Amino acid sequence: MYKLIAFLLMLAFLGCQTSQPQSNDQEPNVDAQVIATTIKQLQESFPGADATLIQKGVTHAGSLWRAADGTAKEFSQFCMKNYFSASDEKKNIYLKLEQYLETINGHFTLMGIGLNKNVTLNNGPLAEVDKLFASYNAAAHWMDDLYKNKIAFVIALNFPYYSLNEKESLGQNWSAEEWGYARLGDVFAARVPAELTQNYSKVNADADLYISEYNIFMGSLVNDQNQPLFPSDMVLLTHWNLRDEIKSNYADARKGSEKQEMVYQVMKRIIDQTIPTQVINSGMYQWNPYSNKISKDQQEVAATDEKDARYQQIINNFKALQAMDVYNPAMKTYIERNFSGGMEISQPEVEILFDEFLSSLQVKEVAGLIKQRLGRELRPYDIWYDGFKARSSISAEVLDQKTQANYPDPKAFEADMPRMLQTLGWEKERAQFLASKITVEPARGSGHALGAEMHDMKSYLRTRIPETGMNYKGYNIAVHEFGHNVEQTITLHNVPYYTMHGVPNTAFTEALAFIFQSRDLKLLGMNDPDPDKDYLKTLDTFWSIYEIMGVSMVDMQVWKWLYEHPEATAAELREAVITISKEVWNKYYAPVFGSSDETVLAIYSHMIAYPLYLSAYSFGHLIDFQIEQHLKGKNFAVEVERIYSLGRLTPQLWMQKAVGVKISNQPILLAADEAVAHFKK
Ligand SMILES: [Zn+2]
Repeated sequence: MYKLIAFLLMLAFLGCQTSQPQSNDQEPNVDAQVIATTIKQLQESFPGADATLIQKGVTHAGSLWRAADGTAKEFSQFCMKNYFSASDEKKNIYLKLEQYLETINGHFTLMGIGLNKNVTLNNGPLAEVDKLFASYNAAAHWMDDLYKNKIAFVIALNFPYYSLNEKESLGQNWSAEEWGYARLGDVFAARVPAELTQNYSKVNADADLYISEYNIFMGSLVNDQNQPLFPSDMVLLTHWNLRDEIKSNYADARKGSEKQEMVYQVMKRIIDQTIPTQVINSGMYQWNPYSNKISKDQQEVAATDEKDARYQQIINNFKALQAMDVYNPAMKTYIERNFSGGMEISQPEVEILFDEFLSSLQVKEVAGLIKQRLGRELRPYDIWYDGFKARSSISAEVLDQKTQANYPDPKAFEADMPRMLQTLGWEKERAQFLASKITVEPARGSGHALGAEMHDMKSYLRTRIPETGMNYKGYNIAVHEFGHNVEQTITLHNVPYYTMHGVPNTAFTEALAFIFQSRDLKLLGMNDPDPDKDYLKTLDTFWSIYEIMGVSMVDMQVWKWLYEHPEATAAELREAVITISKEVWNKYYAPVFGSSDETVLAIYSHMIAYPLYLSAYSFGHLIDFQIEQHLKGKNFAVEVERIYSLGRLTPQLWMQKAVGVKISNQPILLAADEAVAHFKK
């Protein structure tokens, strides 16, 4: 799931791609003098037109113009000829442009779905030709083409790009039409040479591969008594599976904490890179992660380290992304492009919000409750404490029986969607309309939702259904995906203009998916009368936010450090990451956990393969929580329709219009107070 999100995010911040033959053809070709003269000429020719808009449009179009596009004089002539000064003329052109873009975007999406059909759907054995078509991207050059035929410049000149700051301040008073114009301006925000985007794709794919092959053979780990603690065939991927193993061991009262300690010791060896290369992705050697000795057939073998390969991956990503800085005049660093560009929340704003949560009094309160439940002091790996999960009082068999009977195949789920929507409060006719826009298909892997990109297209809900019918786990995921599809349908069909379709960022679609998912029993006509359920859910979310915000803090500080030390070696970066992770720990966790200088926050694999993505998870939790709180006591369907019809504003403006306040820690902090008080009783 996060791979798809990361890919979409990458597209958003990379802007457009171009592939022209000679590298000097790709340098900006219009100097400040030419831009100033062109602005003056246009302002004189159209005295009634908005002078600021002319200036903005010409400056932006000029920043995208390359030698291959024509001479400076040709640029000026182009601007004179293609500027629409009259507002009705501009509106007419906009309506045509949005329709053309919908045609391009919609059909390319549909083509991509068609070409991926056999690799994503459960359609029998795969042939080599299926994989070839799946990796073919027919849309790879469309932006390039729109520069060549100058359409991109018509858009950049008349519908210029607005920075996040401008969108936040001016956008408060914008009409839907002005928002539509601004979102059209985002399409051609920057022009990055194709070789740079291709290079980043390769470097990033290598980092992904590095992580995907970083398995730990748990059966080969031994303690100081030379005893294994884990099953001989257990293989865990760094760091996700290692973390999940720590989580699952809270249920093992006898050996659980010894196993958790050992997993944490392995993590520390990965972070400081003292892990022997012989034990990465191999079970050939026995390894004691405490003494760091390895052996084979009772004989000790000399260990070799991986020479900071982990940190080299981060440096490779940094260099590939930093090379694009000069082609992004509006957002000169990857940090800005990721936050102000991709997420549309500025990095300093993110840090202030995270600092407030991490420093809150509630953190100590909830930690106190965890200590009480564990009957011991906290250990660093308790950032993954798993004991707030509400256990269902309905047995797994009963749930499976019910979903298997209801949904023997995808069509049965599809046919039931109007009823499900009515159960959630939608009127019959509207429920039928929404459901008619969603097709359910059998997935090869786990479930996913694919949104329509034009009005004349359906969304796809892909779900995995065994021969015996849909089990409860599959059903629970399918309801999550159903939430995505409902969002995708409302945000396409009910927003004012096509260029505004969708949600501000991925956290907003995840929010509705989780809101649907949490109502899955209600949709089955069952309920689970556990009085503690809501309180437990609050505490579980609270503790997840506490963990992920700290990890995100490390990620952000590391990127700031990289920009301050662009020539750093992998060894220097390793030292910096260790220092930063200890600083963040000492500031926000040491006062709660009691121990200092822990490095656990630096273990996340996202840091290696998904640069700066981690913050998105925290926003997902906060937004989900705020919308859930807002929906309490209201007409669910009416509110969901109203909120998701707002269109793609910035996240903060969207939230203000949706729930009345910006993205905030307050609702979850207050709810945590209530939950702690409830369990103290
Ligand atoms: Zn989702």
